[in-house]
Amino acid sequence: MRMIALSLCILGVGIGAFAQGAEQKKPNIVVLVADDLGYGECGCQGGKDIPTPHIDSIAKNGVRCTNGYVSCPVCSPTRAGLITGRYQQRFGHEFNPGPPQQAEKNFGLPLTEKPFPTYLKEAGYVTGMVGKWHLGYRDDYQPPRRGFDEFFGFLGGAHPYLPNRPTPANPIMRDGKAVEEKAYLTDAFAREAAAFITKHQKEPFFLYLPFNGVHAPIQPAPRHAGLFGDIKDEKRRKFASMLTAVDEAVGVVLDTLKKTGTLNNTLVFFISDNGGPTKQTTSRNDPLRGFKGQVFEGGIRVPFLVQYPGHLPAGKTYEQPVIALDILPTALAAAGGKVPEKIKLDGVNLLPYLQGENKKAPHEILTWRFGQQWAIRKGNWKLLKTGKMAPMLFDLSTDLGESKDLAADKPEIVKELQKDYDAWNSQLSKPLWQRPRQQ
Ligand code: CA
Repeated sequence: MRMIALSLCILGVGIGAFAQGAEQKKPNIVVLVADDLGYGECGCQGGKDIPTPHIDSIAKNGVRCTNGYVSCPVCSPTRAGLITGRYQQRFGHEFNPGPPQQAEKNFGLPLTEKPFPTYLKEAGYVTGMVGKWHLGYRDDYQPPRRGFDEFFGFLGGAHPYLPNRPTPANPIMRDGKAVEEKAYLTDAFAREAAAFITKHQKEPFFLYLPFNGVHAPIQPAPRHAGLFGDIKDEKRRKFASMLTAVDEAVGVVLDTLKKTGTLNNTLVFFISDNGGPTKQTTSRNDPLRGFKGQVFEGGIRVPFLVQYPGHLPAGKTYEQPVIALDILPTALAAAGGKVPEKIKLDGVNLLPYLQGENKKAPHEILTWRFGQQWAIRKGNWKLLKTGKMAPMLFDLSTDLGESKDLAADKPEIVKELQKDYDAWNSQLSKPLWQRPRQQ
């Protein structure tokens, strides 16, 4: 406590707010996840044509991690990493499943893994999830059996936003049962998230809110009709509504925290689960190379924002590489929870780094494996293999767009990173299911 207070003093953060919040009760934890939202899309990330004031407010009131990554360039494996704090390839969760009807029977976050909400329940939290699960369809893989006290959302990898088409194989569910939902889906998630916060405002809560916005299908909110007339491309115009709906939903969550007096005692994360699939949805990854599904930066580097009033500085950018695996250990440290010694987390508690107390890099290396593709980042060097061709080497400090392959010029760096990658790779399991044909 003294050390933290001291570092806050150095940073010029108000200690009054800190002492009051922390000593009164455990902080609430809110994890907001956008789906398929590219690195360059939000205003705080340099996006120009679609205003995102609520998402941007998290950067303004907290820390924007410019080198924030996820552990996979597609949906389900990233979520498996986020919810365990571990590289998901350690336990075979390497690929997406097919849709519910075609998914392999064993698809789901392995029951041997301990999920995020379970840690927080043990620390005295009530736990709620609203949104897209994508970590298993079978009863024993569903959120109510994986640590969530309350669940509203769906189990698949995507869902229509409009209530005009039944989805019997992938219904909207409340706890264990299918329900009918008439609202635009992103609005429904905002409503449910606000209800959860309001209901549990007097106790420490964990809210996991993975939106399906802005994943396909491209369906704008009817209430946005007439907006974005200056955007000429029809797909982009519809996408603008979808992103605006996510931004407004983030606004509803933040407003509810404010109204219930919990905002100043809440740690909020906002990330995307992978890069934008620009061709399918228009979502942009500027200035990065590549898209969803690739281990180029555009597939794995995402908007990564953290707000924690009184504990983290406001309006700061943090440049060292961080990864979504860090969210669980960071939340757990804030919550005063514990990780059993036998569980090896790959993520680290980011608070001392974001507070400026620890000046080192949180990770010596970050690594990715996604079928035939793999990558490793060490400092500013990134070695990357996309298929049968030889690995490519990029210097991200001078070549953020990964345009100049330096492998032939720097064989010693290639050798070092290859060795580090091989050491990590040797710890991984075989995939428990195979990649569906269309991924
Ligand atoms: Ca996704």
